[in-house]
Amino acid sequence: MPMSTHVVPPLKDKSLFIEAAFINGQFVQAASGKTFEVTDPATNKAIASIPELTVAETKLAIDAAAEAFKSFRKTLPRERATMLRKWYDLVLANKEDLATLITWENGKPIADARMEVSYAAEFLQWFAEEAPRLYGDTIPSGVRTNRIVTIRQPVGVCGLITPWNFPSAMITRKMGPALAAGCTIVAKAPAETPLSCLALAELAIRAGFPKGVINIITASTNTAVIGEEMCTNPTIKKLSFTGSTNVGKLLMKQCSSTLKKLSFELGGNAPFIVFDDADVDAAVAAAILCKFRTSGQTCVCANRIYVQDGIHDVFAARLADGVREFKVGGGYDQDTTHGPLIHDRAVGKVHEHVNDALAKGAEVLVGGTHLENLGPNFYQPTVITGMTKDMRIHTEETFGPIAGVFRFKTEKEVVDLANDSSVGLAGYFFSSDIGRIWRVAEALEVGMVAVNTGIVSDVAAPFGGVKESGFGREGSKYGTEEYTVIKSITFGGI
Ligand code: NAD
Repeated sequence: MPMSTHVVPPLKDKSLFIEAAFINGQFVQAASGKTFEVTDPATNKAIASIPELTVAETKLAIDAAAEAFKSFRKTLPRERATMLRKWYDLVLANKEDLATLITWENGKPIADARMEVSYAAEFLQWFAEEAPRLYGDTIPSGVRTNRIVTIRQPVGVCGLITPWNFPSAMITRKMGPALAAGCTIVAKAPAETPLSCLALAELAIRAGFPKGVINIITASTNTAVIGEEMCTNPTIKKLSFTGSTNVGKLLMKQCSSTLKKLSFELGGNAPFIVFDDADVDAAVAAAILCKFRTSGQTCVCANRIYVQDGIHDVFAARLADGVREFKVGGGYDQDTTHGPLIHDRAVGKVHEHVNDALAKGAEVLVGGTHLENLGPNFYQPTVITGMTKDMRIHTEETFGPIAGVFRFKTEKEVVDLANDSSVGLAGYFFSSDIGRIWRVAEALEVGMVAVNTGIVSDVAAPFGGVKESGFGREGSKYGTEEYTVIKSITFGGI
């Protein structure tokens, strides 16, 4: 296979390509003049130079957000809804440009990037609708002459940190509810994919958000010290982080000195279980979707595929057939189904997981090779059988296009295997037995269960994990709760 042609289409609106950070309503460069490079994962070529901000500039952004909070918290929920709705319209109006940016900096196929923009926009629409519904309660008092009500107020300045795998949707999933609640924001853009975040900020200005309400910090080598500032600065009242479990644990420790409100959306290691009584074709189609989307780089990706004895061989063979039909290539090639991994470290981890499984007795049905002829970060989508629980794919999130298939005999055995994990984000299973469906859905130690479907992400459904996948819920009617505090007000003398 030749190197991908990979022609980046020109943006219709060139002002959405922004090589600057965004503080207090201004796009700015670093005072030091330092920059870092953003590269195209399909070619490793530099595509942008972005300011390497410092702790001092992060403090300026935090101060700007604190100043803006004084008036933004007093805006009417319907005024915030109008701004969010305008932002939603602008995101959709600029969908093609935003998708182009996602493919450029993240590598995912343009069709997936377009879907991501729609998904990202949905959070703005959803939380525009939620903003006027920040209801409180009336509560019977234990004191005869008293009455109690509760109100929900914005928590304050929020620090948001997001990963590169969904450069737009991870941002709007946090900003939508924060803004709906009346909070102001300091967001640290992912170093690999800041362009999408900055383009969204530009559209937010056009939607009417006042200066200082949204601030975007950009950094690569300074990430850890900026993260520490966001965690320890007492002006930030809430930290919402999506990323790896290890970084989540570090940030939680750092936040303890100021006892911030926290939401952590961390790593997963999703079990995908297929029982003998399942519709095998539907299970194969779902496994292809939820294992290989974004080349396996989503937190809800199936990581451990458990198939019951009676249908194991037919499932594995059909899964391998499906994977053989993939077209791996540059994200702008219209027939590409799967793009590159984000960088060489990701390729290295995938390779290690495959080699570890093979050394312990697994067998490759398809794939298992680094596709260097396509570009530095391409890895062939892979199906491996003969998996056992001593292999790294069982215990670690691979975050790559490797489907490891395990064989099991009984329901109890597979539930124990599925729960044998320190993390618990998503879990999938296929069965036609209604009793089993309830039992297994209740037994899986995860925050989200998908039954007879490979789709678990939906703006209407609460998104989040248990165990070391973190806590807090995004999207859904619960999303704004993460950005509000409940205040009780007791009225006496009645
Ligand atoms: P990561 O933890 O390395 O980085 C995530 C973000 O945190 C990036 O913006 C990064 O710049 C920043 N960061 C890294 N170290 C930091 C520090 N010391 N202080 C402050 N910020 C810091 O994760 P990643 O490799 O970019 O993303 C992949 C991980 O994210 C996977 O584990 C995946 O499962 C997880 N993820 C979880 C969800 C979810 O909703 N649960 C969604 C997407 C990704």
